[in-house]
Amino acid sequence: MDRDKILLTPGPLTTTLRTKLAMLRDWGSWDSDFNAVTARVRKSLLAIINGQDSHVVVPLQGSGTFSVEAAVATIVPREGHVLVLDNGAYCKRAARLTNLMGRRCTVVDFGDHEQVSPAVLDEKLKADPSITHVIVIHCETGAGVLNPLQALADVCAAHGKGLIVDAMSSFAAIEIDARKLKFDALIAASGKCLEGVPGMGFVFIRKAILDGCAGQSQSLAMDLHDQYTYMEKTGQWRFTPPTHVVVALAEAIAQFEAEGGQPARLARYTANYRALIDGMGRLGFMPFLDPSIQAPIIVTFHAPGDARYEFKAFYNAARAHGFILYPGKLTQVETFRVGCIGAIGPDEINQAVHAVELALQDLGIASGEPAIQGD
Ligand SMILES: *Cc1c(COP(=O)(O)O)cnc(C)c1O
Repeated sequence: MDRDKILLTPGPLTTTLRTKLAMLRDWGSWDSDFNAVTARVRKSLLAIINGQDSHVVVPLQGSGTFSVEAAVATIVPREGHVLVLDNGAYCKRAARLTNLMGRRCTVVDFGDHEQVSPAVLDEKLKADPSITHVIVIHCETGAGVLNPLQALADVCAAHGKGLIVDAMSSFAAIEIDARKLKFDALIAASGKCLEGVPGMGFVFIRKAILDGCAGQSQSLAMDLHDQYTYMEKTGQWRFTPPTHVVVALAEAIAQFEAEGGQPARLARYTANYRALIDGMGRLGFMPFLDPSIQAPIIVTFHAPGDARYEFKAFYNAARAHGFILYPGKLTQVETFRVGCIGAIGPDEINQAVHAVELALQDLGIASGEPAIQGD
């Protein structure tokens, strides 16, 4: 059928027709109309975190990871020492790129079914004064854990350490207020909870540290200080901008604001999450995480215990019924993931649950019940 399938993934996401239609025009990178769109997007992004007084926002071409890497290279001095609080795949990616950028990196490992701990962070910072920066993933999209960002930021502030937050899958859905939360850099992207299309990231940088970032990046294309300076001076992107992505994001932000901003988005995603948990529960599926640490962004489910289950076949069956699931990202247990984000509501989630039910029938699996109860 010639109809887009619904994406239940952590990006790219299902977008509205209005957002897609915004991409039907060509824009010149020097054109003042396009520069006005970029300026409007930047202003709106700052407003989402109440960051107008304290932070600037620097957009960057590429997927979200490009912006995380750019943030580390721009913010952390070459002789800096980064502590990564690791409870999943995106934390490991942040540690890896920090190492590749040539910054000293220490990783504290928490299991992927747990939050990272502010108390442990406090101990680590006390024990090793050479640490200059801490990287925290707000919502660890690997399993779906929401980390205690405010408490972690308070510990960093008490020790005078720089905090870099990967808020890729939480920004615009879960509250982040720059007036309460102290951070040096916070990273998100166009194609996540703002429901734009993928292709650009953006980094909020604390104004007080901006000047000190000049010349710190060893990369030309990923130098956020240079990108910022050029954009402030000319209103333009340094290199070819992802024009269609930017105009689609502007349109997506207009819809975000009309919907009621972050609280409304959180309410819709929470309704999606509840419909998902209830519906999948009726089919026998069990979520991997304790609900108390689960973000209403993406849910990891245990794979069914039935011997006929195999992710690829399950995926293909659900796909044939119009819904795109996501593989698990855990190494220890067999799981799969279902996203709650994108331009969808509980109706689409209920339809997705029905598609999963049909997929189980197609494979001859009686129930979604996992092999071993409990974790
Ligand atoms: C999506 C995501 C990223 C970026 O991934 P890309 O594939 O580069 O877009 C980074 N961190 C988290 C937590 C994410 O959810």
